[in-house]
Amino acid sequence: MKKAPSSPDSARLVTLIPGDGIGPEVISAAVAVIEKSGVRLRWDEQLAGMAAVRHVGNPVPDALIKSLRRTGVALKGPLETRVGEGYRSINVYLRKTFNLYANLRPVQSFKGVHTPFRDVNLVVVRENTEDLYAGLEHEITPGVVESIKVITSRASRRIARFAFEYARREGRSCVTAIHKANIMKLSDGLFLKCAREVSSDFPEIRYDEQIVDAACMRLVSDPQAFDVLLLENLYGDIVSDLCAGLVGGLGVVPGANYGDKGAIFEAVHGTAPDIAGKGLANPIAAILSGAMLLEYLGHHQAARRIRDATGMVLQSGETLTRDLGGSATTRQITDAIIAALPARASSAADRA
Ligand code: ATP
Repeated sequence: MKKAPSSPDSARLVTLIPGDGIGPEVISAAVAVIEKSGVRLRWDEQLAGMAAVRHVGNPVPDALIKSLRRTGVALKGPLETRVGEGYRSINVYLRKTFNLYANLRPVQSFKGVHTPFRDVNLVVVRENTEDLYAGLEHEITPGVVESIKVITSRASRRIARFAFEYARREGRSCVTAIHKANIMKLSDGLFLKCAREVSSDFPEIRYDEQIVDAACMRLVSDPQAFDVLLLENLYGDIVSDLCAGLVGGLGVVPGANYGDKGAIFEAVHGTAPDIAGKGLANPIAAILSGAMLLEYLGHHQAARRIRDATGMVLQSGETLTRDLGGSATTRQITDAIIAALPARASSAADRA
């Protein structure tokens, strides 16, 4: 994958992966909003997951890999991995193949979305390439299996540096490393050691450590106490969903997977088979993932317009999907966000 070039008017080519389950519904909503924001992108639509299995018999077709190598950037819907398909997870496979080592999930309260918590504003930074997701599992003897957790100093330092650099760039004040080093003294101990070492290069950012179980309790009692959370892969996966629950659920939390040479933008949620194809999915997580993609490509003002329009629709409370207590369809809330988009700025201002 290659890094995004910086020409604003070249109609950047972006890989588009509608995905499985509610993926096609929420991704087409995100594309509609991006197009109405005034940014010109060209979409290279590619099949993956079960949609690809149905059409070409392979969940990760060569055409998808070629497209990702060519464009270096993708907007992606959730993918279903069936047990026995030959891949542990297609998502994990893509992240590892393109070395997208940093998973970033901003979690913010929205006015108009009623939850027990207010003013949550935190970011989950999850290591994306190792830990128990290394896929090293085997049966020692019937009834006894071993699953190996891999933690390396290289990946731990890399993700810690990513978290601190993000905090510095975004004016955030604290990075909290979340761990279980009291039990996993070597693996989580190494992760912490690396985080501590990297933290010394960022004296203006407070560094803090919390044990994962205590951190979960604190997240649901005092979420405002957190700023940037730095986690290994498995804790990051679990804590991300917990954090989504603080601000209205999986329908409103976007995400991105970054590497040194490319990025894939995707919502935290999965394929939601229970509501797929019914027009009920909340597209906001996908739309906000699209805004993160625009930020990455340098279209800062367009990204802000999309976030503002989304915030306005949520705040008005008139057009909310079922997961947020309303009765609007995917289409209705998408149209409401498009209608709320402020007028577009000039292309030069757009990249300011
Ligand atoms: P997968 O196996 O692909 O992860 P899942 O159903 O286990 O699928 P999610 O897709 O994350 O996990 O869904 C968990 C719950 O949250 C489901 O009840 C689903 O309907 C709901 N949900 C997830 N995303 C959305 C969304 N965008 N809008 C509304 N509800 C959603």
